[in-house]
Amino acid sequence: MKDITKLFGSMVFNDAVMQARLPKDIYKSMKKTISQGIHLDQDIANAVANAMKEWAIEKGATHFTHWFQPMTGTTAEKHDSFISPTGDGKVIVEFSGKELVRGEPDASSFPSGGLRATFEARGYTVWDTTSYAFIKDGTLCIPTAFCSYSGEALDKKTPLLRSMEAVDKQAMRILKLFGNTTAKRAITTVGPEQEYFLIDKDMFLVRPDLIYTGRTLFGARPPKGQELEDHYFGCIKPRVSAFMKDLDEELWKLGVYAKTKHNEVAPAQHELAPIFSTTNIAADHNQITMELMKTVANRHGLACLLHEKPFAGVNGSGKHNNWSIGTDTGINLLEPGDTPQDNAQFLLFLVAVIKAIDEYQDLMRLSAASAANDHRLGANEAPPAIISMFIGDELKEILDAIESGSSYKGKKKHEMEIGVTVLPHFPKDSTDRNRTSPFAFTGNKFEFRMLGSTFSISGPNIVLNTITAEALSQFADSLEKSKNFTADVAALVKKTYSEHKRIIFNGNNYSDEWVAEAEKRGLSNLKTTVDALPKFIEKKSIALFEKHRVFTETEIHSRYEILMESYCKTLHIEALTMVDMVKGEIIPACMDYQGELIDLLRKKKAYAGDNIDCTLEQHFLNNITKLSGCLLNKLTALESAVLESSQEREILAQAVFYRDRIFTAMSELRLIVDELETLVAKKHWPIPTYAELLYSVI
Ligand code: ADP
Ligand code: MG
Repeated sequence: MKDITKLFGSMVFNDAVMQARLPKDIYKSMKKTISQGIHLDQDIANAVANAMKEWAIEKGATHFTHWFQPMTGTTAEKHDSFISPTGDGKVIVEFSGKELVRGEPDASSFPSGGLRATFEARGYTVWDTTSYAFIKDGTLCIPTAFCSYSGEALDKKTPLLRSMEAVDKQAMRILKLFGNTTAKRAITTVGPEQEYFLIDKDMFLVRPDLIYTGRTLFGARPPKGQELEDHYFGCIKPRVSAFMKDLDEELWKLGVYAKTKHNEVAPAQHELAPIFSTTNIAADHNQITMELMKTVANRHGLACLLHEKPFAGVNGSGKHNNWSIGTDTGINLLEPGDTPQDNAQFLLFLVAVIKAIDEYQDLMRLSAASAANDHRLGANEAPPAIISMFIGDELKEILDAIESGSSYKGKKKHEMEIGVTVLPHFPKDSTDRNRTSPFAFTGNKFEFRMLGSTFSISGPNIVLNTITAEALSQFADSLEKSKNFTADVAALVKKTYSEHKRIIFNGNNYSDEWVAEAEKRGLSNLKTTVDALPKFIEKKSIALFEKHRVFTETEIHSRYEILMESYCKTLHIEALTMVDMVKGEIIPACMDYQGELIDLLRKKKAYAGDNIDCTLEQHFLNNITKLSGCLLNKLTALESAVLESSQEREILAQAVFYRDRIFTAMSELRLIVDELETLVAKKHWPIPTYAELLYSVI
């Protein structure tokens, strides 16, 4: 058996490696840079770069890259080798501090939402010293932020780091008021659970829809779906198990705390969860995880599907963003404490989150919006598009008691008045955990469940951090003036809960009654991406992000453009893929089968004249012919919608057009094709069926 402790982090230039390889004073400065975000001196950068290069070469690396996360949602890398010519036909290996700290990729082809058109065409990358460098496939990868020359963020990391700073600043103001003198920083932590599908690679390769769009655009329901619920937590098949083992090892080498793995609800669906870490590390690691899932699957003759809804009719894949705030001294601020004072602090942070989510529901909703996730929200297992919070019955009773001024007599007979008695501890896995809630308190953290499986976790965490920072800043503004702190905290908890408790819903979020009830409470229900995204550019959102220096107004507008464009482009590609598949594969298959039936009818008649019964052949031939007519109509409708889509329109109008016209035309076309699939002989059907795809890995 392999020694996991030796394997873990073996490809990471982590603290232990730095300590072992850097001169003492350099190591000390480096640590200071990491923990306090202090500027890195040129000499120190050179020394670190040199040690990093030697370490990387020993590990077999030949290249280095600034690894960054542009607005495409994936990662980008441009590899440079370490070689440098010496003039005598030979080379030496070199890597300078300058190359480590700053890069200037010609990045003009990344989406910028017009930012680089108005500013400078080139962008630059800067080392995020809080995320360790690592070696992937023979290349030393340096995690970096990506900005324009005038400093606008062009990536997902920069605003995430800014949002972490915002919460840090505001949470520290509160902690100081509670007399905390030991904590230097407040840190948000995240553990993202990642769902995915595995199918046979050979089948993947003959489905253009999976190749181009990541999801099946056609496919009749298989005889067996997820109704028996026999896949969830089921015994893992040997091929999948081999993949999971390999993936774990690859992730461990890169310092990713891969911890839990299991089968999910849908056939062929699985999940991986790491142990939580600081938000920006969690974001980097989640990107690495998604990338490795694909490469490792490939090695095992499998294809990993990360799309939110690869198959209609069975569960889609999401990402559960487990989020909390802690201190650098290791205290989880969302954990009920052991003293009355700790409890008052806990309740204050708790109501801060309640206030934040209620006031900025729309931002939370849009942080989980994409064309792909639109298939998932509101369907099957997934949370509905309405944002609400689950806090469990016990906590709700406590807050209700505080609100009404009565004392709380909990299950454990703890009398509860704020700041007086110790709160009962909430078991982490309380029995009534609500799987249907989009934002659930699970004992000492919140779990935001709306994210799609392909998402970078940055977007939702940028929102979560910023809105929490805003609530905390308002609390701090008022409490810093307080003359009677304990009483004022109690009053603030009470008032905040009273004002924002409409966002709390502990019942079944999937029920129709909830949709009606939520409307009565005045909660928003932004059903599609196109409904949600415009909230991003509203005054309230711009004021929030500018106040906490997370986004400038320009950055918000550029991101809005990128997200809207990406929505339209996704649907455009799907529409074109559908047209291609129908014309190139589906129609010819139907024709072949019709030809075969006609041949048979002709032969039968030649053999036995009109006496022979041809009802069966005739029946299929008639039905296919009838449906073929519909097919042509729907195909033509989609093609003309696609043509119309190219007309010049403002971005919102364009997105509305894609949602209402293109998507509808696609759905109608799909219905006919799926019906045809049930009529045409299997040997003629050109693409693997749902049954074959979902049960292809044995
Ligand atoms: P479940 O499927 O029941 O939700 P999992 O064990 O799959 O539970 O996932 C829980 C996730 O929450 C893990 O990634 C875990 O590390 C993470 N987590 C636990 N505590 C915290 C915390 N304080 N901050 C952020 N994430 C946390
Ligand atoms: Mg979970």
